[in-house]
Amino acid sequence: MGLYEGIKDAIGIAQKVDNIELYRQLIDLSSQALDMQTEIAKLREENAELKKGTDIENSFIRHEQPYLTLDGENPKTCYCAVCWGKKRKLVQMDRINWDHGQIKLYCSNCKNHFIESKQ
Ligand SMILES: [Zn+2]
Repeated sequence: MGLYEGIKDAIGIAQKVDNIELYRQLIDLSSQALDMQTEIAKLREENAELKKGTDIENSFIRHEQPYLTLDGENPKTCYCAVCWGKKRKLVQMDRINWDHGQIKLYCSNCKNHFIESKQ
């Protein structure tokens, strides 16, 4: 028997025996159980986000300049290390053709930018 079925059955019994105080307490417990269920759903969601973040972090390749690439992905796909560090947000940086065939990497979210060092 689930929590809600149990409370519902107990409320039914409290009504049958005409115990108002027991009935009120069961209604209160039912409300608390609902709050707990909402909290559990929120925590599960946060936990999934954290786990996803950790999985991403485990495949990071860090570089001298403030950007990241992901292991197994195209090494030209660069993510902003500043946005990840501050907000755990994975923001792909724009690649802009710059002077002398160099590439400027630019984060449209936090404006982090630099000229890619020759590799
Ligand atoms: Zn950024």
